[in-house]
Amino acid sequence: MEQSILPEIKKAAKKSLKARENELASTNKQLEILNGGPFAEGELPYFKDKIAEIGHAPLRPRKLEILQINVGYMCNQVCEHCHVDAGPDRKEIMTRETMELCLEVIRNTGAHTLDLTGGAPEMNPNFRWFVEEAAKAGIQDFIVRSNLTIIRANKKYYDLPDFFKKHNVHVVSSMPHYTRGKTDKQRGDGVFDKSIKALQELNAVGYGMPDSSLRLDLVYNPSGAFLPGDQEAMERDFKKALKEDFDIDFHSLFAITNLPISRFLDYLIASDNYEDYMYALVDAYNPSAVANVMCTNTISVSWDGWLYDCDFNQMLDLKVGSKVKHIKDYNEDILNDRNIVISQHCYGCTAGAGSSCQGTVA
Ligand code: SF4
Ligand code: SF4
Repeated sequence: MEQSILPEIKKAAKKSLKARENELASTNKQLEILNGGPFAEGELPYFKDKIAEIGHAPLRPRKLEILQINVGYMCNQVCEHCHVDAGPDRKEIMTRETMELCLEVIRNTGAHTLDLTGGAPEMNPNFRWFVEEAAKAGIQDFIVRSNLTIIRANKKYYDLPDFFKKHNVHVVSSMPHYTRGKTDKQRGDGVFDKSIKALQELNAVGYGMPDSSLRLDLVYNPSGAFLPGDQEAMERDFKKALKEDFDIDFHSLFAITNLPISRFLDYLIASDNYEDYMYALVDAYNPSAVANVMCTNTISVSWDGWLYDCDFNQMLDLKVGSKVKHIKDYNEDILNDRNIVISQHCYGCTAGAGSSCQGTVA
């Protein structure tokens, strides 16, 4: 089923779906596709019916552990698979006022992990102030998802490795492959070389070294319409290749399944892989992954302060099923008493060993 990214998609993908006025920029259109086709025709079971078979419907949260905050959709890259539809043309950026509301929540949350994401979160003009303030809250694990190339994009970002170190930030970075060809195919020409340089700079200040407490983890996601392989085996391959070829160290590799939304959905449809991919996700459904899907311990906050069960639901604008829907009204107890909003994209989280922003879950 794997198929290389089609040249016409690659060319068009230099802009977001939104800037191209692609119909998939509409979340309603995406949901219509996810609810239609083989699901509406009864060929594949709806996700809600599948999890009902094992008594998990409605899907409910466990304890909140991770607060994930998306500080904006602007990015220096326009990767083909991006579920955020991020890019330089996206202007949605979290304001300082909304960050203040987030800080209030961060100071009082029971979550042990704070996870800042984007776009490229570093492009938010208030990013450094926000990190400095959030770091003071003493959250156990403070993650920033950095795409690596931002560190080399402009000299104003060159000191990011030192900045991350100063605030003891845990860096999690996308690295689709340890070869130039596969990485650049998915993320754009020149991305591999810049990513390697950024990783070396992170290593130089102590990130990712075997005994270092400065954590550096990488994220792998497949470059086409196929599911990721075994996470541990891939981690071994990445470690060996990056060490031998570039003297790079990192801690863990997270293997993430591409969910059929946004630009990856656009790719699936344009390459005529959509139905096969949905069949493959349903075929690989793993009931033991359901109890630990990311939404069971996470709340996701959007750049404008709305609350979601996960980053994917955020991109489909499926807000939490709670009377508390915005950060200004945040109440962890009320939020924990909710049903999680699901659709057919959720099969991406339960395929094989399962998938979350922290890698496999089963
Ligand atoms: S770096 Fe990340 S946020 Fe930016 S376009 Fe690529 S996948 Fe999307
Ligand atoms: S896509 Fe979101 S809501 Fe659906 S199973 Fe995954 S984490 Fe949960």
